[in-house]
Amino acid sequence: MKLYNTASKKIEKFQPSNPNDVKIYTCGPTVYSAPHIGNFAAYIYWDLLIRTLKANGYTIRRVLNLTDVGHLTSDGDTGEDKLEKGAKREGKTVWEVADYYIKTFKDGFKKLGLIEPTKWARATDYIEQSEALVEKLIENNFTYETADGIYYDTSKFSNYADFANLDLENLKAGARVAYSDEKRNPSDFAVWKFIKPGEDHAMRWDFLGRPGYPGWHLECSSIIHTELGEPIDIHTGGVDHIPVHHTNEIAQTYGAYNESLAHTWLHCNFITIDGKKISKSLGNIITLEDIEAKGYSVFDYKLWLYQGHYKAERNFTWDDLESAKNRRLSWRNKIALLYQTKTKPETIPDFKEQLLEKLSDDLNSAAAFAYVDASTDQIAIEDWKYISELFGLNLIPDDLTNKVIQRIHQRNDARDKKDWAIADQIRDDLLKDGVSLLDTSSGTYWQLTK
Ligand code: AMP
Ligand code: ZN
Repeated sequence: MKLYNTASKKIEKFQPSNPNDVKIYTCGPTVYSAPHIGNFAAYIYWDLLIRTLKANGYTIRRVLNLTDVGHLTSDGDTGEDKLEKGAKREGKTVWEVADYYIKTFKDGFKKLGLIEPTKWARATDYIEQSEALVEKLIENNFTYETADGIYYDTSKFSNYADFANLDLENLKAGARVAYSDEKRNPSDFAVWKFIKPGEDHAMRWDFLGRPGYPGWHLECSSIIHTELGEPIDIHTGGVDHIPVHHTNEIAQTYGAYNESLAHTWLHCNFITIDGKKISKSLGNIITLEDIEAKGYSVFDYKLWLYQGHYKAERNFTWDDLESAKNRRLSWRNKIALLYQTKTKPETIPDFKEQLLEKLSDDLNSAAAFAYVDASTDQIAIEDWKYISELFGLNLIPDDLTNKVIQRIHQRNDARDKKDWAIADQIRDDLLKDGVSLLDTSSGTYWQLTK
């Protein structure tokens, strides 16, 4: 299996230190507002990563964090804490806001059929470990104190700029006016923020003799240290994490433990609408519920994403979603037909291997899909099941086919007894499930409509 590693900036053969325990960490959502389809894109792409690794025989141990504290509205340690902001907006406590959006996120995760991580890690469950990490950084002389917190001195880490190819000199020149006098370098970042007397910040912990809360980047380094142990095999996130969040995670882990954080770093790109990144502030948000309300399945959205590549920016349109739906529907009906034809097609003997090989080339799902399309008349039911599982597309679940076959039998019985009302009822019920029946002289056939 080959992956493009942001750290080495090249495609590499994936070689975990232990194939029976591949350690993966995914930066999770800040749980302060409803997730949109752009937010879910990352988890859909990384779900394909997990499934491809599994298909290649690896055993995975994966942690996904939930940020419920410390993520400020700006990446530069200024602005409001997003959770506090969400609480004010909704007239709830920060804990209620976090609980609510954790549930919303997990519901979406489930609806999309994404494989659950081995562990969901909530930032506020790791405060002690995060404090211990700050203590280590202080002990190792990587920090300094200002009026509003403990800051990481990035000049102490000579490789700080390498991961993101940062031009620190330029950053300094550009930021001379913008950054606080107390920060020694513009790239320095808070590992712990102090709460000033009278400051309205509900989530607070006493540490270093006063109330405060952790800096946003801290949780990922401390959760990885606690749950997986660095260096991990794969760390995933969005491209926006490269210059600040991941750069700072790497710096913290180096400063505290003198370790590298991860071997392979993977970053996915943004989803746009009319060329603009989907985001709350632009008001161009689409949710999973919006997709369903327009008569699409969330699996159509998944398939649309997999028609492209995780590293490429993708522009979403409803027309393209319609094409994705049609492709998925055509595949589903190929399978439906196989269940209803007596003559079995001549199949490609190494179909699964060929498909997996294409996908294992840095998750080239588009090439894998092209291979499926070119082979549709030679794919056996077993191979279709493999495709469905490999991409998590829910093409034809066994319970659906079993139900259709059973209901058609019941309808035939009703028709034999001339019980037309029941026969019609069964037809209407199936149609609601997206199954239409076609009566012919040689029997009743079924087709999927959505
Ligand atoms: P935000 O709450 O806007 O910071 O988003 C949380 C994470 O979701 C970001 O770090 C991004 O990696 C991801 N994200 C946000 N908007 C998009 C988008 N339009 N497309 C893909 N990913 C996104
Ligand atoms: Zn992170």
